[in-house]
Amino acid sequence: MTTTLFTDIGELVTCDASLGDGTALGILRDAALVAEDGRVVWVGPAKGAPATDGRVDLGGACVVPGFVDSHTHLVFAGERSAEFAARMAGEPYTGGGIATTVAATRAATADQLRVAAALRVAEMTASGTTTLEAKSGYGLTVAHEPRLLEVSREFTDETTFLGAHVVPAEYVRDRGAYVDLVCGEMLAACAPNARWVDVFCDEGAFDAEETRQVLRAGMAAGLMPRLHGNQLAHGSGALVAAEFGAASVDHCNYLLDTDIEALLAAGVVTTLLPAADFCTRTPYPDARRLLDAGVTVALATDCNPGTSYVTSMPLVIALAVRELGMTPAEALWAATAGGAKALRRTDIGRLAPGARADFAVLDAPSHAHLAYRPGSNLVGATYRLGALV
Ligand SMILES: [Zn+2]
Repeated sequence: MTTTLFTDIGELVTCDASLGDGTALGILRDAALVAEDGRVVWVGPAKGAPATDGRVDLGGACVVPGFVDSHTHLVFAGERSAEFAARMAGEPYTGGGIATTVAATRAATADQLRVAAALRVAEMTASGTTTLEAKSGYGLTVAHEPRLLEVSREFTDETTFLGAHVVPAEYVRDRGAYVDLVCGEMLAACAPNARWVDVFCDEGAFDAEETRQVLRAGMAAGLMPRLHGNQLAHGSGALVAAEFGAASVDHCNYLLDTDIEALLAAGVVTTLLPAADFCTRTPYPDARRLLDAGVTVALATDCNPGTSYVTSMPLVIALAVRELGMTPAEALWAATAGGAKALRRTDIGRLAPGARADFAVLDAPSHAHLAYRPGSNLVGATYRLGALV
């Protein structure tokens, strides 16, 4: 076993409230961290660090937990810049553009999908992401959907079956038959490579009863539920998420007080995706209202070719601070510890003994710079399991 000391950390954000300054970020100054076999085994003042085999001097930088991007549509082919330009010229987003990506993705080879996904993962890593979730949802046949999860599995263990992303063109006259396919043959083919089941439960997508049917089938196959909901309208997504004890309901642009009460009571994380609102020029959700109610908030990119072709969690943090009413500290917590909660993980999103040594070294003296300097990549280095990526 080898131990490595990371020292001369000007500001160490642990996201463990029992450490450091006693805030939710658990900040230590003039600190050090010791990693052993990929795990954090010690954090504390640099002067009191134990002896180790190796040593990395970080020159007074700020170190934060690696970002946990708990909502991405990582694997797809093609791009939709024409749709983006049309939307910026005034056309509303209806969700129908997903069909464009479905056609391109079905036509691509597995290797083309793998190469494109690897480029996106490289961008994410360069901006400090160390864990990402990846959804299927652009195959939508028993032949095409499983390979999206097979490719996703090469990049992450946090894979999500999203056969209920949109009703494909060939089934628009028989939605029931498509939902049956998702719950039957498609689920059976996808479940071996999935940890989660997800449904786009919203106006123009899947209704509450269809959503329940898919979640029930997915859970019976051993998958855990999460949802897209309340993005386009005051739909049933939040209430169904609460009813099923989902780990997270994502988007949440339109919530009633009764939705918030239900999410709080059921312990469902709300994952906000402000880059999608930014890229679709639609109203942002109100994070302040959720935080003040006591709901756990996570932030993620929603990386996808239609509504958020974004890989940068620092951009998401900057948007959350500027547009959702979050403080820099709340946004950083939501992008790390919050994302971990949205994935029901306790080994990531924090830097305390026992956690994975996954972290980003910022070219900045404090975490506030992530929101203070939008558009600059302040991530100087990304470490996963204690090793430079
Ligand atoms: Zn999404």
